[in-house]
Amino acid sequence: MICGLQKMTLLDYPGKIACTVFLGGCNFRCPFCHNSELFMGKPRKLMEDEEFFAFLKSRKGLLDGVCVSGGEPTLYKNLPEFMAKIKEMGFLTKLDTNGYRPEVLKALVEANLIDYVAMDVKNSPAMYARTVGLETMDLAPIEESLRFLIGGNLDYELRTTLVSQLHSEGSIQDMGAWLGGLVPGKKPVKLFLQSFVDRDTVLFGNLSAPETETTQAFAKILEPFVDTVTIRNP
Ligand code: SF4
Repeated sequence: MICGLQKMTLLDYPGKIACTVFLGGCNFRCPFCHNSELFMGKPRKLMEDEEFFAFLKSRKGLLDGVCVSGGEPTLYKNLPEFMAKIKEMGFLTKLDTNGYRPEVLKALVEANLIDYVAMDVKNSPAMYARTVGLETMDLAPIEESLRFLIGGNLDYELRTTLVSQLHSEGSIQDMGAWLGGLVPGKKPVKLFLQSFVDRDTVLFGNLSAPETETTQAFAKILEPFVDTVTIRNP
């Protein structure tokens, strides 16, 4: 279900002019989430898929690509058809995902329906469930998605939203060692660190972003485990 549309963005798809479509529903409850209206209560449908494709038709030649975001887009049962239609119309596709449905991610990539993936890496294994707002969770699906991206040839980025109350030097060290060891002989290519920004739609109050120096220290800790660590300004 389409719950939001940003008609043009220069930021969401690296190096491309794109629009971003937001699909409702999420299997996580990250306390720092900006998009809780996409999955809490009864999400509001913004438009039918056909209306979105009519919009895209009007943007041919103006936009390079489409970012499919959420919520968690891999929960959308018509996602393969949705992405296929976008590709048929001649646009590049980027998928934003939390990586918890690796079978959907793999099927889309294997069907050549995705050009770029941005996957969240929320925290160290020990802190993962807490960081995504669950009591417990199985990390195997996350690891499967990470291995698939790190070991494969698709263009992708990993990204971590930093929150003072959830991330520490210890958890970042553990996250780096975990990421760096998932595929023997191959490190993740790109990891972006982005600071939490408070908004009205954030699920929980009293969260804050780390100081700039702390974020820089986190980046240094991660450098041995990832080819390129970049601090992305909000
Ligand atoms: S931050 Fe992403 S994964 Fe977490 S609850 Fe929000 S939409 Fe879901």
